[in-house]
Amino acid sequence: MSAITYELLHECKQTGARRGVIHTPHGDIQTPVFMPVGTQATVKSMTPDELKDIIDAKIILSNTYHLYLRPGSKLVKEAGGLHKFMNWDRAILTDSGGFQVFSLGDLRTISEEGVEFKSHLDGSKHFFSPESVMETENDLGADIIMAFDECVEYPATYEYTKQSMERTTRWAKRCKEAHKNTDKQGLFGIIQGGFYKDLRDKSLEDLVALDFPGYAIGGISVGEPKEEFLEILKYTAPKMPKDKPRYLMGVGTPDYLIEAALAGIDMCDCVLPTRIARNGTAMTWNGKVVVRNATYEKDFTPLDPECDCYTCKNYTRAYLRHLVKTKEILGDRLLSLHNLYFLSKLMERVRLEIENDNLLNFKNEFYKKYGYTN
Ligand SMILES: [Zn+2]
Repeated sequence: MSAITYELLHECKQTGARRGVIHTPHGDIQTPVFMPVGTQATVKSMTPDELKDIIDAKIILSNTYHLYLRPGSKLVKEAGGLHKFMNWDRAILTDSGGFQVFSLGDLRTISEEGVEFKSHLDGSKHFFSPESVMETENDLGADIIMAFDECVEYPATYEYTKQSMERTTRWAKRCKEAHKNTDKQGLFGIIQGGFYKDLRDKSLEDLVALDFPGYAIGGISVGEPKEEFLEILKYTAPKMPKDKPRYLMGVGTPDYLIEAALAGIDMCDCVLPTRIARNGTAMTWNGKVVVRNATYEKDFTPLDPECDCYTCKNYTRAYLRHLVKTKEILGDRLLSLHNLYFLSKLMERVRLEIENDNLLNFKNEFYKKYGYTN
């Protein structure tokens, strides 16, 4: 029995959207879901209790590359695994570190065996292979772990994308062979192939043959125009296995989350809600609010009148702006809390609209209010 299973509850009659549940060793996850990112084994400035009681997060994501460098996966293992180390008893997903390592540019060298790279912290040399990444992810002990892949940058030639995708498939096979805790951790394969449909097909076909308990779409939302993102998303997602979770990596703006759900995606993650919070930006039911702007200097209204989070119930835009301008930690915290709450509520609404076969209508209404044009 796989550690991770998917239960389909309802398919939207209007679109390809689906409502389901992912069963994990650390609880059930209602889908589609947005997963907050805790890069360094912490969702920046939020306590686990706040994530549970206020945000209602059922799963969070953490980063293998960062935890490998600091504090080291053996230390986390010694502490009893990531759940215990960070005091989080719900589900965790770890990425493979591939995205971070390949983002290092000149600091890394790729071979069939793996990737040699220099740490962004001190320039020290390291090597990631499918086998070493599986050992690291097994040590960390997340419920869902990702195969080691290459996220090809945008744009890339057909020839390079093809070679890279084929190597990613070979690495996925090696990951599967090296993965030890199959009863406690579900290993997901990552579909690559850039912006070439035939390569996406080939990647999907070969990964499905390896029979992973879940699949992700990688290599989109990497800086391409929105039309190209939508083209590959809508092409790939519906072809992914129906009986397994479908994960779209690195997506966190409201429009991309809704588009993902419409295409039949179950899970998304992004650092966006907490990152923009630290810049003094909030997502609200009436669009983006850049709290640091001078417009809000004497605005004594709530951040989002339609939101009932702790921040919106208790503080004004003027006060939040003051905290952001003075770089007070509370400003980060209050805005992060609101942004995470907002996305959690947005996904709750998305799930409800799928059940009512009404997601497309909701999208149109939401876009109008938010200020999206398409
Ligand atoms: Zn709020």
